[in-house]
Amino acid sequence: MAPVSYAQRRLWFLNRVNGDSGVYNCPLVVRMSGDLDRAALAAALVDLADRHEVLRTVYPAVEGEPVQHVSPRPPELEVVTCQEDGLAAMLSAAVDRGFDLTADLPVRATLFAPAPQEHVLALVLHHIACDEGSWQPLLTDLATAYRARAAGGPPRWQPIPVSYRDYAVWQRDLLGEEDDPASLLSAQLSFWREQLAGLPAELDLPFDRSRPATADHRGDCVPMKLDGDLHRRLLAVAADHGCTTFMVLQAGIAVLLSRLGAGTDIPVGTAVAGRLDDALEGVVGFFVNTLVLRSDVSGDPTFGELLHRVRDADVAALDHQDVPFERLVEDLNPERSLARHPLFQVMLTLSAGEAETFSLPGLTCAEEPLDWEVAKFDLSFDFREHRTPDGEAAGIDGSLEYATALFDRATVDHIADALPRLMRQLVSAPRRPVGDADPLSAEHRHQALVAWNDTALPVSQTSVPELFEAQAARTPRATAVVCGDTRLTFAELNSRANVLARRLRDLGAGAERLVALALPRSAESVVAMLAVLKTGAAYLHVDLEYPPDRVEHMLRDAAPLAVVTDTATAAAHGFGQLPAVLADRIGAPSGPVADLNCLVRPDSAAYVIYTSGSTGRPKGVVTPHSALSNLYAFHRAGLIARTEASAGRRLRSAVTASLSFDTSWEALFWMLAGHELHVVRDDVRRDAVALTAYVRAVGIDVLDVTPTYAEHLLDEGLLSGTGAPLVLLLGGEAAGQSLWTRVREASGTLCLNLYGPTECTLDALWWDAADSPHPLIGRPIGNTRVFVLDERLRPVAPGVPGELYVTGPGVARGYLNRPAATAERFVACPYVAEGEAGTRMYRTGDLVRWDRQGRLDYLGRVDDQVKVRGFRIELGEVEAALADCPGVAQAAVAVREDKVGGKR
Ligand code: AMP
Ligand code: MG
Repeated sequence: MAPVSYAQRRLWFLNRVNGDSGVYNCPLVVRMSGDLDRAALAAALVDLADRHEVLRTVYPAVEGEPVQHVSPRPPELEVVTCQEDGLAAMLSAAVDRGFDLTADLPVRATLFAPAPQEHVLALVLHHIACDEGSWQPLLTDLATAYRARAAGGPPRWQPIPVSYRDYAVWQRDLLGEEDDPASLLSAQLSFWREQLAGLPAELDLPFDRSRPATADHRGDCVPMKLDGDLHRRLLAVAADHGCTTFMVLQAGIAVLLSRLGAGTDIPVGTAVAGRLDDALEGVVGFFVNTLVLRSDVSGDPTFGELLHRVRDADVAALDHQDVPFERLVEDLNPERSLARHPLFQVMLTLSAGEAETFSLPGLTCAEEPLDWEVAKFDLSFDFREHRTPDGEAAGIDGSLEYATALFDRATVDHIADALPRLMRQLVSAPRRPVGDADPLSAEHRHQALVAWNDTALPVSQTSVPELFEAQAARTPRATAVVCGDTRLTFAELNSRANVLARRLRDLGAGAERLVALALPRSAESVVAMLAVLKTGAAYLHVDLEYPPDRVEHMLRDAAPLAVVTDTATAAAHGFGQLPAVLADRIGAPSGPVADLNCLVRPDSAAYVIYTSGSTGRPKGVVTPHSALSNLYAFHRAGLIARTEASAGRRLRSAVTASLSFDTSWEALFWMLAGHELHVVRDDVRRDAVALTAYVRAVGIDVLDVTPTYAEHLLDEGLLSGTGAPLVLLLGGEAAGQSLWTRVREASGTLCLNLYGPTECTLDALWWDAADSPHPLIGRPIGNTRVFVLDERLRPVAPGVPGELYVTGPGVARGYLNRPAATAERFVACPYVAEGEAGTRMYRTGDLVRWDRQGRLDYLGRVDDQVKVRGFRIELGEVEAALADCPGVAQAAVAVREDKVGGKR
């Protein structure tokens, strides 16, 4: 009994684990019309197996290892009479059925007979006994034998000088022993160790779904085509750069995958024939070997440079092609996973000429379409190159096979569609950097720039203080604000604000002036905000819990004309030379106080908020009135109107965040619309148990919190049973899957995810949790357009990570007194809408991706992604990986804190 080859051994072990899977089946299904001699076909099959011993070989285990055992039993032709109707399903089943390699012959032939003159032959081999190069001898020999048998005799053919068994022995001799440093095996292994060092464990492709723990190998495929003209250009570029067609395709695919988010180190697998001796030409068996070819797209090379890199790498790889892939995997020992193919997940093959066809004399034969597709890889690009009879380019066609567990067909269609478009650009300009080429289709471009940004919403230019005054006139006696024991009606709140506003106006408050607010959390804080806005000035909240040097920096930087505070706070903090207006000394007016009717211009600043910023000193974001009006219009027309309609009563909103955050507007907007605002006291808002009890006892309908806090509130039963709020707004950080699922289950509560940086006025994107099972940040709010762009500010395709840019009325004016910082983040927008003058967009620093329905998914901060050989990893992963090296780990943590430090 003879040993098996390396490649066979790997398949054998896979087969032991996964015996009834058809993943490694190699089928040929042909329809034959006419007079078929069934007996001759059955006899020919026996002849074929007689000639090619590998077709009669079984692989029993001896001490847990496979050995080759040539069985005396020939394969049989099974004949199945059937109806044309059920044939397709029967063919799929026949092709999908697995083999037990220890006992079954690795070939199975079933002849389906749907009609007297109609036969469909399903010839299924296990990969252990064949490869691509086996089909030609196999089909020729089968036809030869059939012809002879139909004529009444045995085939007369020259015996084959070698068998697969000889090859398995010869392969081991050729490669030698690994512990022999002079052996071919050890020389080639050391080449590959170096060649593949630092290979990405997994290529980031634009997956539609996350990878299941175990690959199911289910697949499908879409067609690809490079027409004759493109083929001709491709050949010209290949000739100019000393490359083969394959190398040009490989380089093009590397650029494409890189542009689709895969990084710059792109390994693909390919098959080499492995028939190292001419004597092996006509032999049926598993000779093919798999090579990993690595394309280095880093540094934005020209296409010509990339071709040279690819050529050098491929030539070296081919020089070391004898190490069996399975031996290499064992040696490199990458992290093992049943979820993905080791070392590479994208395959590339190119064949030439027409595919082998099978025909028998006297019959019309045609390959039968088959509904059976397995995917051993995430993606497999399989090309066939055609030439005219005089050798001219006649096009390259192919199929792109994909794992259905990972991709939707539309995504793969897009890849197949993008390749020729990108390839044409690359081969037409080999001296241009590959980054110049753009794989995006006109249709996707239009979608991403225009269709998904169709957000027009009418907005009145009425400013927020005017909106409030109008509401106060409509419902003077309704409660406007509640804080602890304090309750103020709309009339009271308005009158108080008018008194304070007059004081501030006397001090000089007006358009483009700033007033600081430094009050303990109270109804008075709301009075003060309104008062400042009424004068046309902008407010700057000073959070009394901020460290003194931060407060000092803010006041120095912003230079407000006065600070509104109270006696106790002024005594405790002191605000230097700044004129202080002591709110507690003003007292409540005895009757209504008229509005001031100052002119509030839409582009005047409404407030300044200091962001911690990722680096350096906090910067003051200057937000205009128009931004606030726009966001209010959006909430008013949608969320507020919808909730009012379903509740049919006045509602209560609660502000739980610090009033120095812009998010407090989320609750304030409801008051502008006539509802009751609760400024939840510090001792309540900070305690999940107390806050939940407050919400349920008081009957709060609208609550805005961070996802982290929402988890705690839900743990306390916020959304259980009756008494749950009608609206839960999440924002400020990414919502996780578990919270998402929980809020979706609470059907009585409408839950929106709101995304937006301070620089874009609270919210730029929104999504209703009920409308997707996974967390999304969704779509732009009214009048807002968003772009997902690459490093060159070009839109990227759905599924591809890019940086989020926001444009629209919500974009702030910039950073106070920081023109350089402003210019860096508020940049000119290259995608001006029709009829629009030049506009700016805000660069968020957030990494996001579109899905194909035009909804955005949040991936993290751009800066948190460290690029290691083109492979993106999270800083968190670095920390985790380095946890055992204390010094290094500390450094990594320090980097992280510096990056995200101080963020909420
Ligand atoms: P800030 O300017 O302090 O409001 O912080 C804005 C940043 O918080 C954004 O740039 C995002 O990184 C993050 N962020 C805000 N809202 C969300 C959200 N709904 N989902 C994910 N991240 C968010
Ligand atoms: Mg915010």
